[in-house]
Amino acid sequence: MRRYEVVMGLEVHAELATETKLFCSCPAKFGGGPNEHVCPACSGAPGMPAVANRRAVELGIAAAIVTNSEITPVMTFDKKNYFYPDLPTGYQITQITAPICRNGRVEIETGAGAKTITLKQIHIEEDAGKLIHDARSTLVDFNRTSVPLVEIVSNADFRTAAEVVAYLEKLRSLLSFAGVSDCKMQEGSMRCDVNLSVREVGSHALGVRAEIKNMNSLKAIAAAIEYEAQRHIDALETGSETLIQETRRWDDDLGETFPMREKENANDYRYFPNPEIMPIRIGEDWIERVRNSLPEPAHEKYARMVGPLGLPEADSRIITGSKNLSDIFDTTTAAFNNPKEVVHWIVVELLAVAKGDNKGEDDIAIDSGKFAKLLELVEEKVINRNVGKKLLKLVLTEGIDPEDYVRKNNLGLVNDTGAIDEAIRTVLSQQKKSVEEYRGGNEKVIGFLMGQVMRSLGGKADPKVVGERLSSALQF
Ligand code: ZN
Ligand code: MN
Repeated sequence: MRRYEVVMGLEVHAELATETKLFCSCPAKFGGGPNEHVCPACSGAPGMPAVANRRAVELGIAAAIVTNSEITPVMTFDKKNYFYPDLPTGYQITQITAPICRNGRVEIETGAGAKTITLKQIHIEEDAGKLIHDARSTLVDFNRTSVPLVEIVSNADFRTAAEVVAYLEKLRSLLSFAGVSDCKMQEGSMRCDVNLSVREVGSHALGVRAEIKNMNSLKAIAAAIEYEAQRHIDALETGSETLIQETRRWDDDLGETFPMREKENANDYRYFPNPEIMPIRIGEDWIERVRNSLPEPAHEKYARMVGPLGLPEADSRIITGSKNLSDIFDTTTAAFNNPKEVVHWIVVELLAVAKGDNKGEDDIAIDSGKFAKLLELVEEKVINRNVGKKLLKLVLTEGIDPEDYVRKNNLGLVNDTGAIDEAIRTVLSQQKKSVEEYRGGNEKVIGFLMGQVMRSLGGKADPKVVGERLSSALQF
C-alpha cells in the first residue's frame, strides 16, 4: 500500500488595527452604511495621489518583529492588476519586489512536539470591496476597499491539520497581543487560505496544488484540510478524477470543497512597481522604537501570572489565551489590586455571564472601572457574592454603576446583628419541627433553616455571619 503525505503552505490575511485606510483618511473601522467610508482616493477616481499610512507601516514592522522576520531596509509598493467589480482601480496595491519583511520563523507546539514554521514573506496590501448579490442585481460597497492588511505567506512546512491550527492560534496570539490586528476569524479580520497538495512519502516532487478558501473558523479549516487531502488521495489511488491546479471554496454546511476558478499564475497579474508611492526607508532606529513600544506578549504575561503573582496555571492560560480577557485583567487589577480575585471573577463569573449572553471571550466589552468597583463592594462586604454575581450581569449587559445601583435598590448587606438575630428567632419559632430534628441529631436540617433565614433577610446578609449565629442559637 502506498503511503501519502500532505504538504501545505498558508496565506494568512490579517486586517491592521489602524484608524484610517492605507492611502487615505477614510475610517478603516468595520460597519457603516454602504459606501459611507469612501473618498475619491479609495474609490478609484483617476489622478488621486496615494499617501501611505504611517501607522500601517508601523504595525507591519511589529508583525515582522513578533515573527522573527528580516525587515527590508527600503520597501516599495506594486500594482497587482486584475478586473473585478470589487476593485475600483482595476489593480490592488500590494508588495512583491520589496515586501516589508522576509524569512520569518514561528514556533508551534502540537501533540507531536515542537516545530518551527518558516515564513517566505509578509507584505502590506489593501483590501477589496464587497459585492452584495440579490435576485436581480449585484451591488458594490467600497467601505472595505483600501483597508490595510498584512498577508503572511508561509513556506510549505505544514503536514497536518493540527499543525495548521496550532500555527493560526500562535499567530493570533502574537498579532493580537502586539496590537497589530484583532484577528477575529468570524468577522473576517483574520482569513486563511490553504495551499495543499499530496505526494507519496519519500517523494520530493510536489503534487498538484489546490488553494482552499472561505473557511471562517479553526474548526472549518481543519475540516477543509481533511476533506481536501482525502479527495487528492482518492484521485491518486483510484484515478476517480484528474487533479488540476485550481482554487476551491469550502462549503461549511455541506462539508465539501467546490471549484471556484483555475488558479492564476503570478504573471497573469502583470505586477509592476507603483510609481505613485515613494519607497519607504525602514531604519534601525524606527524598528527599535516599534520594538520598545510593543506590549507584553502572551507568554511573558503567562510567566508573570503563574510566577510572581502566584495565580493558577489553568486560569492564567485562559486569560492569556485572549487579548481581550488579558486587557480586562490588566485594567481591572489596576483599579482593584487583588489579582487572585480578579482572575476568579473573570474566569468563573464573567465568562459564564458572557456565555449566557452569547458572547465569546473576545467580544466581552465591560467597563473595568465598574467591574473593579463591584469587586471592591464584595470585598468590603457591602454586598455578598451572590448579589455581586447578579450585578455583574447588569454591569455587562446594561452598564449599570454598581455603587449607585446597590444604594438605590437597597441591596447592601444587613450588617446589623440585631436584625439577623431577630430573623433567626422568627424562623426558629416557625420551624419547630426542624429545630427538634436538629436537636435530635439530624444536623443536615441546618441547611434548610439557613435558607429560611437568608430568605427572610432578602439574601442580603453575609452567609458566614448568619451560619455562625444560627448554630449558636440552636445550641439553646
Ligand atoms: Zn478613502
Ligand atoms: Mn493577498
